[in-house]
Amino acid sequence: MPGGTDMTLRPFLWRAERLYPDTEIVSRTSEGIERYTYAEYGDRVCQLANALADLGIEEGDRVGTFCWNHHRHFESYFAAPSMGAQLHTINPLLPAEHIQYIVGNAEDKVLFVDPSLLEALEPAVQSPEFDQVKRYVVMASEVPETDLDAVSYEAFIEGHDTEFDWPDVSQDQPAGMCYTSGTTGKPKGVEYTQQMLWAHTMESLSPQGIPMADDDVVMPVVPMFHVNAWGMPFTATAGGSKQVYPGPSPTPEDLAKLIEEEGVTLTAGVPTVWLGLMDYCKENDVDLSALERVIVGGSAAPKSMIRWFNDQGVEVLHAWGMTEMSPIGSVAHLKSDLEDADDSVKVDKRSKQGLMVPGLEFRVIDDDGEEIDWNGEDFGELWVRGPSVTTEYFARPEANEEDFEDGWLKTGDVVTVDADGYLKIVDRAKDVIKSGGEWISSVELENSIMAHDGVAEATVIGVPHEKWQERPVAFVVPVEGIDEATVEEEVMEMLSEEYPKWWLPDDLVFIAEVPKTATGKFSKKDLRDEYADGDMFEGQAPEEAAPDDD
Ligand code: AMP
Repeated sequence: MPGGTDMTLRPFLWRAERLYPDTEIVSRTSEGIERYTYAEYGDRVCQLANALADLGIEEGDRVGTFCWNHHRHFESYFAAPSMGAQLHTINPLLPAEHIQYIVGNAEDKVLFVDPSLLEALEPAVQSPEFDQVKRYVVMASEVPETDLDAVSYEAFIEGHDTEFDWPDVSQDQPAGMCYTSGTTGKPKGVEYTQQMLWAHTMESLSPQGIPMADDDVVMPVVPMFHVNAWGMPFTATAGGSKQVYPGPSPTPEDLAKLIEEEGVTLTAGVPTVWLGLMDYCKENDVDLSALERVIVGGSAAPKSMIRWFNDQGVEVLHAWGMTEMSPIGSVAHLKSDLEDADDSVKVDKRSKQGLMVPGLEFRVIDDDGEEIDWNGEDFGELWVRGPSVTTEYFARPEANEEDFEDGWLKTGDVVTVDADGYLKIVDRAKDVIKSGGEWISSVELENSIMAHDGVAEATVIGVPHEKWQERPVAFVVPVEGIDEATVEEEVMEMLSEEYPKWWLPDDLVFIAEVPKTATGKFSKKDLRDEYADGDMFEGQAPEEAAPDDD
């Protein structure tokens, strides 16, 4: 086959550079607002590729990033994959032990790190997992005070040629990588080939996906370390959209300002972000007139949110997906024959996880191994497959056996499908808690709590929470005769040494016995049913415990 005919990312960059050279990329950084055009972007992508090549980065090497959403991070999105290397985005909110494991497992050769995240990284780099890292590059024009032997990004790329002799990369070449936190054990790596990211971009660009065009101003609020910000940097480039990157830990005020000043038409993030923006807009005079669509995903979109944005003339597109899927799987578009339906019907459809995007297939398998009927009532586990869905984890054969079958990914989400084909998540078969869009492993917390001498049994469940969607609560059976207050204090202290603040349970409830299933396993379902309304814990989540506030 002649070179350049494979499904790869580089033609998206080529198109934006040639067709939309004057379209802007705007970035909020710790050094202020920066803006330039796709033409300049293309030059800097080449400079970065040259700098990486000079460092000795070759085809197949992994380029790690430990960064928020900004233009420099975006430059690595095209530079690394287009030279045949692999962009590996790392979630800085994870416990230090996970970060060490991930960098070692991926064998990152170079690490790009934000100035505001240096402190989080510094202690980890002493571990042997970081030995193969050749260079630390700080995403700024100058390196702030740090123990790391690092170079600034601007110094790193300075003086390098603004042209690069791009190789013809194969579509099977891994282009990206992101780790996902599972129920047990270490995080699992998902590799995205060039073809997967190409397919995901085309699926997103379809009218039934999250299309982005040259009259759009696209602002990904979902972190770029979380599945490539849902692929938006690639989709927006392919569509020739103006792009706005909101930088490190943006507040609702920052987001409102960017929407107003840059004329954002399309933005995306988890429900927690939009709840914050809604509250801010209710208290302040914010002009949302440019905004056309808000993508809500990662956790379920509440109906009240869909209605509120609707009242402002903004369409909410509720999306579902997974790290393993690059990640968009379904979007709750309204089918055309529902346009004249009652408002309540429309809101109901839009609040479901929606219609599978073109290119993917799904089936729903019940406890008896049979496919369910599409009647909105029968439920089972959702299985998916398609060109943007992975068929294996990186170097984890035991996890592959559990999560994949005959090319299908078993999502661990329990769903119904209505007669119109809308998916609705009704339960989660995997034992994890999603708080503000990021995972907390209940099993890890349980193991740590049970390591305390005063604890006979412990289990951790996610309880519904208005702002964070879910928060962890621990249920503890104390050893007989022990002082509960002391146990609570010691357990919480122990957990705070091991885990980031936002992982800590909002409450520790002492109970006489953990409910058990017929086979003697902890029955979290019984506990969840008992505490499902979340009332008992409402308002107790510490404000500072949020992943996006870190
Ligand atoms: P991640 O791999 O971190 O992106 O998380 C994927 C998981 O998040 C899915 O398997 C679901 O459990 C959950 N999830 C993603 N989007 C939604 C949504 N719109 N509603 C409910 N849960 C969601």
